[in-house]
Amino acid sequence: MSAKRRTLVHWFRKGLRVHDNPALSQIFNDARASPEKFYVRPIFILDPGILDWMQVGANRWRFLQQSLVDLDKKLKELNSRLYIVRGKPVDVFPELFERWNVQLLTFESDIEPYALQRDTTVQKIASEHGVKVDTHCSHTIYNPELVIAKNLGKAPVTYQKFLGIVDKLKLPKVLAVPEGLPDGIKPIADEFEAVDSCVYDCPTLDQLVKRPQELGVNKFPGGETEALRRMEASLIDENWVAAFEKPNTAPNSLEPSTTVLSPYLKFGCLSARLLHERLKEILVRKPKHSKPPVSLVGQLLWREFYYTVAAADPNFDRMLGNAYCLQIPWQKQPDHLEAWTHGRTGYPFIDAIMRQLRQEGWIHHLARHAVACFLTRGDLWISWEDGQRVFEQLLLDQDWALNAGNWMWLSASAFFHQYFRVYSPVAFGKKTDPTGAYIRKYVPELAKYPAGCIYEPWKATLSAQREYGCVLGVDYPHRIVNHDIVHKENIKRMSAAYKVNREVRTGKQEDQNDYEPSPSQSTGKRKASSEAKKTVAKRRR
Ligand code: FAD
Repeated sequence: MSAKRRTLVHWFRKGLRVHDNPALSQIFNDARASPEKFYVRPIFILDPGILDWMQVGANRWRFLQQSLVDLDKKLKELNSRLYIVRGKPVDVFPELFERWNVQLLTFESDIEPYALQRDTTVQKIASEHGVKVDTHCSHTIYNPELVIAKNLGKAPVTYQKFLGIVDKLKLPKVLAVPEGLPDGIKPIADEFEAVDSCVYDCPTLDQLVKRPQELGVNKFPGGETEALRRMEASLIDENWVAAFEKPNTAPNSLEPSTTVLSPYLKFGCLSARLLHERLKEILVRKPKHSKPPVSLVGQLLWREFYYTVAAADPNFDRMLGNAYCLQIPWQKQPDHLEAWTHGRTGYPFIDAIMRQLRQEGWIHHLARHAVACFLTRGDLWISWEDGQRVFEQLLLDQDWALNAGNWMWLSASAFFHQYFRVYSPVAFGKKTDPTGAYIRKYVPELAKYPAGCIYEPWKATLSAQREYGCVLGVDYPHRIVNHDIVHKENIKRMSAAYKVNREVRTGKQEDQNDYEPSPSQSTGKRKASSEAKKTVAKRRR
């Protein structure tokens, strides 16, 4: 009797949750409807090949490991479990289909090019084995393909345009956790489990984290349980939610001034659709509230916007061949890149941010603005692709679409074109942390520097540096560039690059504004040089 049973498989990739998971709910519902016919096996494929090309730092591996352990626990509460299968999807699926007598495979759809390619191959293999495949879009609130279709087959390239389209779309129904499976439909052990009952168990931390010395503090543990707890904690103060305006949150507070739900949304431990629904419910109760682009709902819609534009271009994460991205002659500067990467630029605000990123795996959005602008058009004139790669390794929330989209924005390569508005690596941080407490925490060498020069240690005399216990060039680096000089040169370089791009591109792109620095925080003149003004005026036409 049991030999004839077919298996229903749900393949977790992102979407590491049991709530609002339509692809998981589908197999649970089918199995509950005909318990005598089916076994259920939710799987996660641990692909060692990914290590060859994907940059994943130790902190993100830990986040994934914790998320898998939590997911297994959640599935056990539903009378199932998580099966970890080791290997490449294209290699493991033919075997699994045979071994488990699979009838149906479900998974959440993905827009990343490597995932699309992989999924197409798996779908072909499934069809060769007579296995039905059903996919569901649940990583984003809106289906990027649908938004593009509504815009006559083109991705909307401005946030406002995007809002106009999604405003008319129906919101998807947010699903509850599926009901647990009845007893008696747990799969019998396959030949591998019979030999080793732990064969499909979750990986341990040691198995995933090859360089444990790189693990930082575990400030944001992975998993759906923590995601839901964090969401509830973020939403508890409804006045805060209603008044939220991103530009008024601090990049350098000692505890995060925004939700830090991004790692949970990235791995799908939290459903963006659930968070959106909960936010909307609060806003109904608080009719006087902030609005997109600066509100919390507005933040989620930035995520949707980038997913939509990225879905339309497989080259979204590179400059060449990218339909959105201006071509800018960035330079290779390995020593400057190295200094930026490791928080040794000699600009304490920049270094504190980069060190926080390495230790904790998360930094505030405006902190990302500051370091991204510094690396690219502001100071170092290094390609956004290099910065993207470093973020890819260090961020817990690293996300193909969001990382690339935001790097293009900050480097004024796409979506934002006011390149003459440059963040000051000195003035910007002072605004929200005039005493430099954030710098003292992440750049402890400078802890004894007084507020007056902690952002600009080069202003201290040598004898003062000795007194503060940190001599520049010995205990902390001299600044690698002089911002006051280089940012002006770089504005000219941008202006020239824009001119060349204008000559080769014909498409009109509108400027849009989210929360670039106000004149008091920027060292570039907000009022553009006459050259830059002309550039912007022309682009607007
Ligand atoms: P909140 O302000 O609490 O916002 C709630 C959610 O909205 C976030 O969790 C996130 O999912 C979404 N969101 C907020 N801001 C943005 C934004 N600008 N673009 C897209 N979605 C947004 N975010 C990532 O999730 N992954 C990345 O790889 C990533 N790379 C970035 C690279 C650069 C150079 C920059 C400037 C920004 C990047 N961001 C990225 C966007 C943003 O910085 C983070 O999403 C945000 O800081 C996460 O913190 P939070 O959860 O507290 O955000």
